[in-house]
Amino acid sequence: MRYSQYLLPTLKETPADAEVISHRLMLRAGMIRKAAAGIYSYLPFGLRSLRKMEQIIRDEMNRAGAIECLMPMANPAELWQESGRWEKYGQELLRFKDRKSADFCMGPTHEEVITDIVRNTVNSYKQLPLNLYQIQTKFRDEIRPRFGLMRGREFIMKDAYSFDLEDAGADTSYSKMYQAYRNIFNRCGLKFRSVEADSGAIGGNFSHEFMVLAESGEDGIVSCDSCEYAANVEKAELACRELQTPVAVQELRKVETPAQRTIEEVAEFLKLSPQQLVKTLIVQTSDDQVIAVLLRGDRELNAIKLAHLLDVDWALMAEDDVVKQVTGAPTGFAGPIGLKIRIIADTEIKGMADFVVGGNGVDVHFTGANQDRDFTISQFSDLRQAEAGDPCPRCEGGKFESWRGIEVGHIFKLGTKYSEAMNATVLDDQGKSQPLVMGCYGIGAGRTVAAAIEQNHDENGMILPMPLAPFQVLLTMLNPKDDLVREAAEKLYQQLLALNIEVLLDDRDERPGIKFKDADLLGIPLRVTVGARNLKDGNVELKIRKSGDMSMTSLDDIIPQLQQLVADGLAFQAGN
Ligand code: ATP
Ligand code: MG
Repeated sequence: MRYSQYLLPTLKETPADAEVISHRLMLRAGMIRKAAAGIYSYLPFGLRSLRKMEQIIRDEMNRAGAIECLMPMANPAELWQESGRWEKYGQELLRFKDRKSADFCMGPTHEEVITDIVRNTVNSYKQLPLNLYQIQTKFRDEIRPRFGLMRGREFIMKDAYSFDLEDAGADTSYSKMYQAYRNIFNRCGLKFRSVEADSGAIGGNFSHEFMVLAESGEDGIVSCDSCEYAANVEKAELACRELQTPVAVQELRKVETPAQRTIEEVAEFLKLSPQQLVKTLIVQTSDDQVIAVLLRGDRELNAIKLAHLLDVDWALMAEDDVVKQVTGAPTGFAGPIGLKIRIIADTEIKGMADFVVGGNGVDVHFTGANQDRDFTISQFSDLRQAEAGDPCPRCEGGKFESWRGIEVGHIFKLGTKYSEAMNATVLDDQGKSQPLVMGCYGIGAGRTVAAAIEQNHDENGMILPMPLAPFQVLLTMLNPKDDLVREAAEKLYQQLLALNIEVLLDDRDERPGIKFKDADLLGIPLRVTVGARNLKDGNVELKIRKSGDMSMTSLDDIIPQLQQLVADGLAFQAGN
């Protein structure tokens, strides 16, 4: 491709509304342009990366035995009514009517459509297992679209759906997808973790998220430093030892703590460490319970664990007026002594005695508080958020490390949820009708490219890994008006094209400074510069974008060197 004839509108200025680096760089490098909030066009340069991502996905899905199809974006309401999600899905589902007033929605995911296809085309266990996938545009009317392709409203997803006769078969289908996903993100050259994820209402360890590690990630994850265990912090279990409650030594004392509200303030005021305090959180649930939850002072509540324990949709911090009603004090002074509501506690509390709690009054706390003697805990459970340094629940001696991650893939064992709701059955070898056991598997193609940029950039621009880079080689002719330079660059260009190396020829009539700035911004992995001075000695300059290494190479050697570097770059497997 010749730069002079290409559409590559690079920007010098950082666009004002782009908060994260990948969004800024994708705009600046002319990869995408916004059409509306969360809705983007892929310009040619961006589309090349996206297509590469899709091709890696396609290869690995095919290799795992999945079969490609393509479903409609416009989904008829009837199918969604059958599954019950027409009502349940909420506002992310964009509903609309056609000219005959028939209801439709834009597909945010395709369980309904695929289940309909399979129930009408598969009727015997002999046709199983089956895994169908598509790479298609999804629409979700996200409440807060942001970060460019990272959280769009319209975005490209690969979604796959597996169908098996029995649970054991479904587990095999799931593990094939798990492996395919690992292959995909390895082939992209990304540092990632596959983590156990919260599987919501279905339960069991049958959901994994694939997280690209990046500081800007929205998700917290922990992984064991000595075994394979890794999980989203929403889900991460903690090693629970049986704890003995120490004997109470201190007497309960009410102390004045003027204007000391936070755990840190109270601890410092009383000259104690936050570990000697117990915090009392007043929580409200989706079924209108109000309960108190006790945690060690330095710990954070994991509201998802709490919701599971209580078997509710959500558990959130209570509003100020509710706190006032149950504790008699404003938010910030709650304590378990004298509370009339149910008290549950994190398991760690069991091993504590003589601690400090809130006094249910402005500026008062209790020291020397003890469970059983001073108040009653009705239940203990693992309720806190995992942190770096916590012991691993799966192995002896392992400790958690913590990371930020961007969720790029999610696999899920669905069971018979959709097949039962939509009556998708097959006949087994006894001629008996059985509901299909399903799995679903998603990857955001655009989000993965954006995540790759979050992980691979510097202050000058992108450094996309070779497998996702729009071009492999940038061939810069410094002065296109110089005949020798032009001829040498043209010759290299033709040679690279003949070898199927993806090359962008910067043949623009621009100053070298502009060309080099754009080169760094675009982040094409290999840059070859053809200039009059070096050419006199039969040389060109080779720069590796990632390392910044520059070397002089003869015109004879440059092509085999590039071939080798491209091959190495494509074979790249990020260890993780
Ligand atoms: P999130 O928690 O980030 O909203 P999700 O759990 O809703 O994600 P899934 O329904 O599992 O996501 O979708 C599968 C994949 O599709 C995700 O792993 C992600 O890569 C991608 N994806 C989901 N929502 C978006 C979006 N709004 N923009 C871009 N990609 C998305
Ligand atoms: Mg979502």
